[in-house]
Amino acid sequence: MILILVPDTRPDSPEYKQLLAHLANFPGITTRVHTEVGAEQTLTEIYLIGNTKVLSIEDVSALPCVDRVVRVSEEYRVLGRHKNDDRPTYFDYNGVRFGQDTLNVFAGLCAVDTLEHVEIMIKTLRDHGQVCTRMGAYKPRTSPYSFQGHGKTCLPYVFDLAGKYGIKVIAMEITHESHLDEIRDALYQTGNATGVMLQIGTRNTQNFELLKIVGRQQQLPVLIKRGFGITLDESLNAAEYLASEGNRKVVFGLRGMKTNMGDPHRNFVDFSHVPVVKRLTRMPVCIDPSHSVGSRASSPDGILDIMHVTAQGVTAGANMVLVDFHPAPSKALVDGPQALLMKELPHFLEDIQIAREAYEKRTALAERYREA
Ligand code: PEP
Ligand code: MN
Repeated sequence: MILILVPDTRPDSPEYKQLLAHLANFPGITTRVHTEVGAEQTLTEIYLIGNTKVLSIEDVSALPCVDRVVRVSEEYRVLGRHKNDDRPTYFDYNGVRFGQDTLNVFAGLCAVDTLEHVEIMIKTLRDHGQVCTRMGAYKPRTSPYSFQGHGKTCLPYVFDLAGKYGIKVIAMEITHESHLDEIRDALYQTGNATGVMLQIGTRNTQNFELLKIVGRQQQLPVLIKRGFGITLDESLNAAEYLASEGNRKVVFGLRGMKTNMGDPHRNFVDFSHVPVVKRLTRMPVCIDPSHSVGSRASSPDGILDIMHVTAQGVTAGANMVLVDFHPAPSKALVDGPQALLMKELPHFLEDIQIAREAYEKRTALAERYREA
């Protein structure tokens, strides 16, 4: 059960203290308080954990400071959608909105290799009106002998260049808690030139200790990828780990499943689950066409498979597209074969726009038929 308090309830107010004292008397029920400090107001939610079935919504609603009460099911308590649940389905970060109604493109380098490539990439994005990108500094690689990413040494120039060209959010995977500190330090050192969305990769979806540490900070939002060999439910529970520790600025990323049944794509594309995740949770949903398809193969219609699956995901309502580009894919140190070229960016963006318009028409059509 979630108690949503009247906005701007002060923790030192007598009513709030009275409420907590009252809750402490409920046998077998513990509480967890979550505070979300927004630009306009501070929202406090109190989670009642334990046997809440014995409590009536009416009684709890009548307690001091309580605005509304939501009875949650066992699953995805914080991030899930529950009956009569009107909690928001978006968050704002560094001036960019991420929601179940918005669409953001994160085109960029799979892995940072040279400063020159970073600058070409970021400048091209700026020239096409983009304010988000992806830049890998810490790369989880199958082979220990493969390039592991430049790590913290590249962060200062990546963040400075992002600031120079107006990039507001960089999606960047971390594989260890020390990377979080390195990113926060570098952001501080560069005067917060840009923002970072931490990425939890598919190999770390169930690295629970990493999830807890990332969830305990509320400064940076998180993109968590679906685990490539586990159920959707297991991956959604992994996202819930982040939120249960306090960070609800979470985007859920679909990136294909590991199975030979998906051949010849690198992973079996799972973008039909975009609406499913939006139905089950309040998270914006990201699709990663690059790591799903894994190649520049194209079909007889002249459209790259990467663009086809992107359109499929966007037409189904995806809210974010994470995609590999590279100025010289043959020189890329990671995932060159799946990278799109700088000159393909306008085509890619226009194609996404067509798919987005199709999605908007489809929702309007559904509404018209619902009303009829
Ligand atoms: C990536 O986005 O660079 C990446 C490694 O993705 P995934 O974790 O989905 O394999
Ligand atoms: Mn990659």
